[in-house]
Amino acid sequence: MQPIDRAALLAPHEFASEIERGRALAILDRIERSVDALCPLCARALVAQEIVESIVLGFQDTPHCHRCLAEEHGSTAAEFLTRIEGYVAAIACFRATWSIAAALGGRISLDPP
Ligand SMILES: [Zn+2]
Repeated sequence: MQPIDRAALLAPHEFASEIERGRALAILDRIERSVDALCPLCARALVAQEIVESIVLGFQDTPHCHRCLAEEHGSTAAEFLTRIEGYVAAIACFRATWSIAAALGGRISLDPP
């Protein structure tokens, strides 16, 4: 993955406050540190969106893959992705980093592994 150009990707005008932008910057740091980590449950390599998804769900220190997160929540992978995308879209720091993650470090795939 290319190093992330934070200043270009997270323009201050896209955020309501510097606090909100700071949260997005912290998420980008997490993505850079965690991408290519393995899911602790199934050992699959994680893509960048799964790092963001894990942060959304409170697994920032032990990111999990989408399939395992969906299963933990009693949901199918497709249903769970729809729910996560709805939640992410409503919160600026998640919305910004979700699309950056997809572009730079991998989008969640619903295809069979
Ligand atoms: Zn997994």
